[in-house]
This record gives sequence, structure tokens and C-alpha cells, in this order.
Amino acid sequence: MFRYFENLIDPYSEYTQTDTPPTTLWAFLRGYCRPFYGVLVLMTVTEISIAALELGVIFGVGWFVDVIQTTPNLIVDYAVPGLIALAVFYLLIRPVLFGLNILLFNQTLDANSTMLIRWRAYRQVLRHSVGSFENDFAGRIANRVMETPNSISHVLGQVFGGLSYAIAFVFGALLMLLQTDARLILPLLVWLLLYSLLMRWTIRRVAKASKTASAARSALNGRIIDGYTNIHSVKMFAHDKAEIGYVKQGMETARVAFFQVNRLVSKMEITLSLLNGLLMVTVVGGAVILWLDNRVQVGSVVAATMLALRIDSMSEWVIHLITEIFRALGKVSEGMETIAQPVTLVDVPKAKLLQVPQAKIEICELSHHYGRDRGGLDRLNLTIQPGEKIGLVGRSGAGKSTLLKLLLRFYDVEAGKILIDGQDIAKITQDSLRAQIGMVQQDSSLLHRSVRDNIRYGRQNATQAEILAASKQAVAHDFIVDLKDLDGNSGYEALVGERGVKLSGGERQRISLARVILKNAPILLLDEATSALDSEIEAEILNTLYGMMQGKTVIAIAHRLSTIARMDRIIVMDNGSIVENGSHQALLAQNGQYATFWARQSGGFIDIKAVI
Ligand code: ATP
Repeated sequence: MFRYFENLIDPYSEYTQTDTPPTTLWAFLRGYCRPFYGVLVLMTVTEISIAALELGVIFGVGWFVDVIQTTPNLIVDYAVPGLIALAVFYLLIRPVLFGLNILLFNQTLDANSTMLIRWRAYRQVLRHSVGSFENDFAGRIANRVMETPNSISHVLGQVFGGLSYAIAFVFGALLMLLQTDARLILPLLVWLLLYSLLMRWTIRRVAKASKTASAARSALNGRIIDGYTNIHSVKMFAHDKAEIGYVKQGMETARVAFFQVNRLVSKMEITLSLLNGLLMVTVVGGAVILWLDNRVQVGSVVAATMLALRIDSMSEWVIHLITEIFRALGKVSEGMETIAQPVTLVDVPKAKLLQVPQAKIEICELSHHYGRDRGGLDRLNLTIQPGEKIGLVGRSGAGKSTLLKLLLRFYDVEAGKILIDGQDIAKITQDSLRAQIGMVQQDSSLLHRSVRDNIRYGRQNATQAEILAASKQAVAHDFIVDLKDLDGNSGYEALVGERGVKLSGGERQRISLARVILKNAPILLLDEATSALDSEIEAEILNTLYGMMQGKTVIAIAHRLSTIARMDRIIVMDNGSIVENGSHQALLAQNGQYATFWARQSGGFIDIKAVI
């Protein structure tokens, strides 16, 4: 039975992805809730039925009291069917309805809606450009993808569970009182009006205060994460005390903000208890007065009293429930800032697959300033012949990495274009572009998976023999076989810690080199690929790298000029433009920026003749 309800909805069912998610809260919620419409309707029906039956019992008791009072001789006739009806309701109808409602919520809606929304939100966010990830914290993005679905699920449960029951109950009560004596609904109407005002007052203030409290909590979270993430700096500068003070300050702000929320809740609860007192006095008092006046029977007094008691016990949780709903909606709005961001970097309609028979790269009038008026690249022109090896040098901030990012289409160019074998990279699919490019970066972040999985990332269908060969080529095999993680996995099965912290920088870089070797793409980009290696390993890796470069078009960024002196051509960039362009020897002869860099470095530790 459980499985039936759990499988009513498939959280991973296919759906149409959109590049422009709705920007308004309601449209956003509607989009994500569509798969649950049927379940939500069923839940509402069961809630309304439960409310109607409970009201039926209350008024049934009132009617029974009337019978006892007015026609006691008929009580024997009514007692048995009345008791049977009561038993059927409490032992059969109510448990069935209640059970159905619980199963629909717990087994069908709760876990599935959270997972369905999380699954879709995760996929949506994964489609965002590298740029949008660079502009946010990975922790915050992940947190929003994890928490927003929880909040939506919470809202659904509250609205279609508790709230629909409460609304049905109060409206049902009004209707039934109206049938008994119209005057009896007056106190309930007055109470409803005052209750709505109190609710409005609470929601407005609590929503605002909750937002402040939530922001304070996020800021505190950020402070704690910041300290732990940069633990090296904290320890290096012996700043533990300063960090503790900084976090304490954040905690105090969060505590004060939390007080504000609770002050409002306390005010609301005290006012509500007064309001409910008023309801009890006026409803029960009114019913008694009408009874004294012989306008209603004693059963109505009993029913009105039971109703007032039920509403009294319900009213507080309803206000909390609605406040919770608004609080959760606030969290959803916050999550939307990430999840509902439009996907701007998309394939053009009917984008073709990149074909790379030669790997010629043409960069024409390329400008990219990251949406600002300076920085990045400025009207850059460069043609790289098939199989040519280019070394890219320049001061920090010259725009070298930006050029590689644009080649990979991590950003859309602001002006100009990049052609690979005559095809504009803006008009081909991103996947086919990146499949043709291998890249080794300065900061080789590895995934928290086994070494084998990390290397296989280069080519998912690589055989064991190919993985081994690539590792040997990257001078990684020998240290990999000696690896052992805390769970006892060893060699290629050993798990790499978060961002590869259990490995040295050089070891990480050699693993990422192995995966690029495995990828064997016709275009190779190296961004400070050997920066983390010691000179002995570097010499070995350089041979591997030069071997890998055979038959490929290569762009290699290096601050250590020894690593690129053997390239066919060297491009010197400055301030987003190319300022020198030629072979190592030609540039030395030019006596410009490159010659200065070279003199500075070789003066220290490079034997030019040994390198070239
Ligand atoms: P380095 O040698 O230090 O790595 P670089 O030559 O690779 O430097 P880039 O990283 O391309 O330089 O940066 C070029 C300019 O673009 C810099 O002024 C930098 O501040 C700016 N820049 C780089 N990335 C971004 C970004 N994501 N958003 C905004 N500006 C950026």
C-alpha cells in the first residue's frame, strides 16, 4: 500500500526545460506544483470531508441533547442508530479519510514534491553559465537548491492540509449556526473579523522580521563558512580570536533579529487568547440568552459551546500555520534569486555540432569586458593555424584566462567572434565545442570521487587499460598506486577529498592531466598547467605535454616562461590586447616586454640553451 502511494508520482519524469523561468512567485510555484495538482485536489477533498463530518458530529450531539430533553421516550429508538453512526464515523469513515489524507501527504506529496522540485531546480541551475557560478558562492547555490524545495513542499502541505481543513470548518460552522439561529453567527463573524485583522497584523510584521532574521542567519552562516574555508589564512595569521569575535557579532545580530520575530509572536498569542475568550463568552453567552428566551433549544447551546471550544483550540495553530506559510514563501522568493535566473548562455535554435577536421582558430575583433567598461579583452585579433602551438604570456590581469574562457564559451563574447575551422562557436552546441577542447588548469579541482572516476571524467567509456596508460603518461601512476584513503580504499579506488585536499597540488594537477590525455581533444588549452609541479616532475611532465601536443592546436598560458619557450609562437598580452607576437627568438630580438620577462626569469634560474 505504501509503495502504491509512493509511486503515484515519479519525481524524475521528463518535463520541458525553460531558459526563462517565471519571475513572479505564484507563477514559479504553479510551474513546480503542476505535477501534484491531482494529489492536492484529493487532499483538499479529504480535508473538507473530515471537517464536514466533525461538524456533523458536533451538531449531531446537539440534536441528540434536544431529543433527550424534548422527547425522552424516543431516546431508545435513537440511541442504537446514533451510537452505530458514531462508531461508523470514528472507527471507519474518519480513520479511512484521515489515513488517505496522511498517505497522500506523507507518502506521495512530502518526499516526492521535495525531490521533484529539487531535481528540476538542480538541473536548471546546472544549466547556468560558468559566469553566474563565478559571481555567487557555490555553498549558497547548493543551499538554495536544497532548501527552496523543502519550503515549497512545506507550503503545499500547510495550505492543502491544515489550512483547507480550517477554512472548511469555519465556513461549515457558520452555515450550521445560520440554520440554528442567524443571531448565533454574529459573535463568530465579529471574531472572524478581529481574527483576520490580527492575522494580517502578524503576517505583515512577522514576514518582514523573519526576512531580517533569515538574512542575519545567512550572514552568520557565511561568516562561519568563510572562516572554515579559509582555515589556512586563519591559522597562518593566528586570527582565531578575531574570527571568534567576528562570528559572535554575527550570532548576536541573528539573536536580536530572532527576538524581534518572537516578540511579535508573543504579542499575537496574548491578543489571540483574549480574542478567543471573547468568542467563548459571546457565543456561549448568546446561546444561553437565546435559550432563556426560548428561541433555541438546549442542544444548540451545547453545539455552539463545542464549536467555540474547537475554534478556540484551532485558532492559534492556524495563525502559526499561516505565518509559517508566509515565512516559507519568503524563503522561496530568496531561492528564486538563484533558481529562477534566466539561462542566458544557450545554444542557438538548431545549433549544429562542431566539426574539427583541422583545428584552426580565428579570433576576430574580440572584445569582452564582463559587462563593464574596462578589463577583459579589447578588440583582439589572432589566427592560430591548425596544429600550431601558441604560448600566451603577459602581466597578471592582461586577459589571458579571459581568452581561454571565451574560447570555451563559458561567457558569450560582447563583440567580435571566434571561429574554429570556420564555424562561429556561438552557433554550434556548447557540448560539441567543449568536447573538442582539452584543458588543464592552474587550480585543478578534483571531484569527491575515486581517482579512477576522476580520470575517467575525461572520457566516460575509457577502458581500464586506457586509464592506466593515461596515468602513466601523466607521471601519476606511481603515486596513485600508493594512495590509501580513510575508508581503506587504495590505488585507483581511493577517494579524493573535497577539492582534492588529500593530494598535493602537483598530484592533483597530474590527475587532471591524465584525464585530459584520456580526452584526447584536437584543441588543447593549458592555463598554468605545470605551476604546481616541482622542477623535477615539471621536466618529466613537460615532455609528456609536448608529446600530447603533437597534432593538436595548443594555447598555453604560462608565467614560467621555460615551459613555453619551445612553442611555435609566443603572444604577449597587455591590458586586453596583443602587444607582441612571434617566436621566442624573434621576441627576444625585439627586446620588448617578453625579453624583459625572460631576462628577469632566466637571470635567476633558467638555462636558456637547456630549455630550447
Ligand atoms: P592572471 O595571469 O593573473 O591569471 P589574466 O591575464 O589571466 O591574469 P584575466 O583573469 O583574464 O587575466 O583577467 C583580465 C581582467 O578581467 C582583469 O581585470 C580581471 O579583473 C577581469 N575579470 C576576470 N574575470 C572576471 C569576472 N568573472 N568578472 C569580472 N571581471 C573579471
